[in-house]
Amino acid sequence: MSRPTLIRRVVLTALLCASTSLRAQQIAITFDDLPLHEDLPPNETRLQVAQQILSTIQREHLPPIYGFINAVDMEDDPGLINVLNAWRAAGQPLGNHTYTHIGLNKQTPAQFEADIQKNEPTLISLAGNSDWHYLRYPYLWEGETLDKRHAVRTWLAAHNYKIAQVTMNFDDYLWNAPYARCSEQHNQAAIASLEKSYLAAADRGIQIARETSQTLYRRDISYVLLLHIGAFDARIFPQLVQLFRARGFTFVSLEQAQKDPAYAHDPNQPLLHGGPLQHQEYAARHLTYPALNNPTRQLEAACKTK
Ligand SMILES: [Zn+2]
Repeated sequence: MSRPTLIRRVVLTALLCASTSLRAQQIAITFDDLPLHEDLPPNETRLQVAQQILSTIQREHLPPIYGFINAVDMEDDPGLINVLNAWRAAGQPLGNHTYTHIGLNKQTPAQFEADIQKNEPTLISLAGNSDWHYLRYPYLWEGETLDKRHAVRTWLAAHNYKIAQVTMNFDDYLWNAPYARCSEQHNQAAIASLEKSYLAAADRGIQIARETSQTLYRRDISYVLLLHIGAFDARIFPQLVQLFRARGFTFVSLEQAQKDPAYAHDPNQPLLHGGPLQHQEYAARHLTYPALNNPTRQLEAACKTK
C-alpha cells in the first residue's frame, strides 16, 4: 500500500471510530434492593450474589455502580451488613431505597419521608466520602396524586437528595425465583431457557427505551438501567454486559448519565403505578407506552413440578 493511501486509511479509521464513540449510547447500571432480593438457590448466600456482581464490575472495568439499600433487612439478619460492606469495600457507592421498601402510593408524604430518613444512619456509617444522597423510589412509585408527588419532591430537594431515575427497565426481577427453583432441581435445560428469555427481555427493554426516547427527545439519552441484586441477575450479568456492548453502548456513572437534560424535566404526572421516566412523559402526553411482553406466565410455571 502506498504511503498516502495508508495515511488516508488511518485517518478514515480514526474518523469512523470518533463518530462511533460520539454516537454510542451511554448507560448507567444500578442495582436495587441491597442486601437481598428474591429467593436464593440452595447453598448460595447473599454475600456470594453480591460478590459475583462486584467481580463482574471489576472484570468488565465498569464505572461506579450504585446499590440502593433497604436497611430493614438487617433487623431480621444483622449479618446481612456484610453485603453492604462488600459493596463499599469494592469502591461502589450506596443510595437510599427507603428503610422498609413501602411504596409512596401506600404512605403519606410524611410517612414516606420518615422512611427515607430511617435508612440514613446505615448509609452514613458506610458511605465515607461517597455521595449517598440519591433516592430510588420503591416500585418507581412517585405518587398517585400531584400533591404527594410535589410534597416529596420538595422535601427531597430541601434535604439535598437527587432522584435516581430509571430510563431502562425490563422487569429483570422476574427471573430470580424461577432460577432458585430450577437450581434446586438441577434442571440445566430450564436454566438455559431462563438465560435465553432474560436476554431477549433485556433486548426488548433496550428497544423500548431507545424508541420512546426517539419519540420524546429525538435522540438517545444517557440511560439509567434498573437491575436487582438477585441470584439470577448476578449469574447472567456478564452476558448482559456483552449484550449492551454488542448493541453499541458504553457504560457511565449514574452522575454522568443524569447530566443529560432529559432528567431535569419533571413530567409532573401522577401515576397509580410507577414507571421509567419515559413512561411518565408518555402518560403526561396521553401516549400509549410499549409493552415489554415478558413471558411472565412461563416464568411463574418454570420448575414448579419435578
Ligand atoms: Zn426495590
